[in-house]
Amino acid sequence: MTQRIALVTGASSGIGRATAELLAKNGYYVFAAARRLDRLEQIRSDHIEPVELDVTDEEAIRMTVNHVISTKGRIDVLVNNAGFGQLGAIECVSMEAAHRQFEVNVFGYARFMQTVLPHMREQRSGCIVNMTSVMGKMSTPGFGWYAASKHAVEALTDAVRGEVMEFGIEVVLIAPGLIKTEFVPRQLALLDTVAHPPAYQKVIKGLYHLLANEPTSPGPAIIAQAVLDAVTSANPPVRHALPLDAKLAAAARWLFGARLFAWVIRRQMKF
Ligand code: NDP
Repeated sequence: MTQRIALVTGASSGIGRATAELLAKNGYYVFAAARRLDRLEQIRSDHIEPVELDVTDEEAIRMTVNHVISTKGRIDVLVNNAGFGQLGAIECVSMEAAHRQFEVNVFGYARFMQTVLPHMREQRSGCIVNMTSVMGKMSTPGFGWYAASKHAVEALTDAVRGEVMEFGIEVVLIAPGLIKTEFVPRQLALLDTVAHPPAYQKVIKGLYHLLANEPTSPGPAIIAQAVLDAVTSANPPVRHALPLDAKLAAAARWLFGARLFAWVIRRQMKF
C-alpha cells in the first residue's frame, strides 16, 4: 500500500508536535513545519521531516508543497494548526497586532489550503484538518481578535468543504478547549505588550482568572488522537470539539443567547 503523506504546521510544540508524532507512529510520512528548526529537529526520524517556515511567507509555503510533491508524489493530509492568541481589549490591541493575528491564524491556513488543493484535486483524495478553538463559536472579553480569527477559520472551512467534496476531499474542524501547551504562556506574554488604561484592569484580571485552569487542563495528546481519528475515518465529524467542556461551552452559548452568555462569562471572569 502507498505510504500516506501528511503536512502538519505548528509542529515545533504543543498540539502540532503531538499530532506529527502520532501520525508518524501510525505509518504516515510527516512533513513537520514551524519557524523554530531546532525544536523540529528534536522530532526528526525516518517518518518525520522538519521544514522551517513562517506561515505568513507564501513563497516558503509554495516551495514546501513543491518539495512534498516532488519527493513523495502526493499529499494526503494537511493539518493547519500553527497559530497564537492575541489577547487584549479591542480598544487597546493595535491594528498592527490585529493584522498579525489574521495573517497567521487565518491567511496562514488559507495559503496552505490554496497550495495543497490543486494536488488533492488531481489525486481526487485528501483530508484537510483546520485547528479552530472553542473561541470559533463564541467570543469573550479580552479574546476578541483571537475569537474573530477562529470564527473566520470556521467560515472558510465550511465554505471550502462544499467546494471540494465532489473531488473526494474532506475538510474538517477540530475545536480544542483549554489544552496545556506553550499557547497560554505565549498569550499572556503578548497580553503584557498591550497597553491597557486602568479602566480595563478588571478585564485583564478576568483573563488571568479564566486562564488559571491551564495547568490542570489536558495535554495535547487528546487533540492529536482526534486528528488521527479524523484523517483515518471514512466519514469524520465536520466539527469535533473536545474535551467535554469545549462541547458544553458551545452548547451554552447557543442555548443562552448573546446577552445571558455574556453575563455568565463576566461572572466567571469575576467582573
Ligand atoms: P503552541 O504555542 O504550543 O504551538 C503553536 C505552534 O504554532 C508552534 O509550533 C509555533 O511554532 C507555530 N507558529 C506560530 N506562529 C507561526 C508562524 N508565523 N509560522 C509558523 N508557525 C507558527 O500552541 P498549541 O499547540 O496549543 O496551538 C496549536 C493550535 O491550537 C493553534 O491554532 C491554537 O489556536 C489552537 N488551540 C489551542 C488551544 C490551547 O488551549 N492550547 C485551545 C484552542 C485552540 P514556531 O513558534 O516554532 O513557529
